[in-house]
Amino acid sequence: MEEVGTGLLDRLDAMQRVAASAPGGPLLIVAGPGTGKTRTLTHRIAYLCAEMHVFPETCLAITFTRRAAEELRHRLASLMGPVADDVTVATFHSLGLSILREQYALAGLAADFTITAEPEEAIPGRVIQLDDLITLPLEILRAHPSLVDKYRARWSWVFVDEYQDVDAGQYELLRFLAPPDGNLCAIGDPDQAIYSFRGADVAFFLSFARDFVDSRVVRLTRNYRSSAPIIAAASQAITPWSLVPGRRMDPAKVDLDAPLIGRYSASGAQDEADFVVRTVDELVGGLSHRSRADTRGVTGVTVSFSDIAVLYRTDAQAAAVVDALARVGVPVQKRSHDRLRDRAGVTALAAELRLSGGSGPLAARLRRAAAALTERPALGITFTPDELWSAAELLSPLAVRCGEDLERFITEIVSGQEVDALDPRAEAVTLLTLHAAKGLEFPVVFLIGCEDGLLPMRFPGNPPDDAAIAEERRLFFVGLTRAQKRLYVSHAARRFRYGSERECSPTPFLAAIDSGLFDRLGETEPVRPRDRQLRLL
Ligand code: ATP
Ligand code: MG
Repeated sequence: MEEVGTGLLDRLDAMQRVAASAPGGPLLIVAGPGTGKTRTLTHRIAYLCAEMHVFPETCLAITFTRRAAEELRHRLASLMGPVADDVTVATFHSLGLSILREQYALAGLAADFTITAEPEEAIPGRVIQLDDLITLPLEILRAHPSLVDKYRARWSWVFVDEYQDVDAGQYELLRFLAPPDGNLCAIGDPDQAIYSFRGADVAFFLSFARDFVDSRVVRLTRNYRSSAPIIAAASQAITPWSLVPGRRMDPAKVDLDAPLIGRYSASGAQDEADFVVRTVDELVGGLSHRSRADTRGVTGVTVSFSDIAVLYRTDAQAAAVVDALARVGVPVQKRSHDRLRDRAGVTALAAELRLSGGSGPLAARLRRAAAALTERPALGITFTPDELWSAAELLSPLAVRCGEDLERFITEIVSGQEVDALDPRAEAVTLLTLHAAKGLEFPVVFLIGCEDGLLPMRFPGNPPDDAAIAEERRLFFVGLTRAQKRLYVSHAARRFRYGSERECSPTPFLAAIDSGLFDRLGETEPVRPRDRQLRLL
């Protein structure tokens, strides 16, 4: 446990300290990537409880994903010790669920209501769908002002991370929970708003000062994550289009030897994948000839596989890189943005499990359900037996984790459990879509496929409008700012898309970055001694 008390804020810089120790009332923390948002948020909660006589049980911290909620809980526990358990840490969906568990009758639900996957037949009063976890609490709160008072009294301190990603329903829920002059602390970065396709609207962030009276705004501008060249490039890529007037991002440390950004112009996707493999090989020191352990011994090592991430706009780009890395024996872990419930057969299996009843370890019931469905396909079902068995295989680890608890199993699926979980400790190169990379950081990042049409994404016959381009630019910004020490960007001259090989040009987003920040790799200039040095971390 870290020291609590006067030393609590010592680990923050001056502006982080201002944010963490600000008095009650609406507080907006506008903070760019790598400026220590989670650090500031957790320290604020710990400080209020330790120093300002705030009771932990009156604190409600809301995040968007389960992973972020777990991370927050973990960091609070290490700062506050056991009293951290009294802080409510929730995702918007789990918050809605806990309200419904208390107020089920007002929503016309049975006490033992369950959450369902969409093909399932709705049984009125017993089964609700995921979206209802927000819409039903809203209906109850709209109709019962006394309940609004009750929840406001229970959670008089509300904290929301990644506020730029709230959608209309979540925003309305927050307005119920926090009065206009309430102790609401919202933290986020409008320039990292990348979820409008899911209904998020950055306008809620931008209107905070109008929505909440006498609000205080604190900006964090010191970036602790990335090297100076990476920060300079990322700033140039976003500043002229920024949603934050006067946005700044200053490096916390300036290292004159920090490498420039490696830029590689590939002939095609295969060449690009080979470039990634070659560079990984250089970074970890000749992996094709030595085992990992030997590598560490030989070079005294700075880079291991777990330090490296490959980021891309669409999942389809991962295959060439996965294959190329696998060929030379590099372990990889891939995390897509896909959710379990979106995979063919998954929700039908969940429905069949529930219908078939029974008890015992879930893994075995899952196999029986798959067998039953193959023999007796449900009406209107569009998947093949193969898809069904792969769905069962995909669900098996979750079935094991949930033991016999069918409700937990189904709740995990419908509430958006992702297909591949990410293990930050795994000794493997991580492959991620840009959306899935949000909030994460890696010493070495490859941002591949920096091409017009891919990033920004352009679908045939459907040109993106200005808002879509702006969001794609923010996605590019999110990608650049995941890197701590070494960043590589690449683009291919030709790529297979929509059924044919197409000519591609580099994304216009790259043109905003000063060419002096790039180290052009793989081009014919002779290797100068400095280039070699630039490759070292
Ligand atoms: P993003 O917008 O990408 O989610 P963030 O603002 O949440 O970024 P964090 O991930 O909290 O940033 O912090 C980035 C890195 O900077 C972390 O490794 C964190 O430990 C470090 N950091 C933050 N504040 C400080 C500080 N005052 N001193 C030293 N390191 C810090
Ligand atoms: Mg963060």
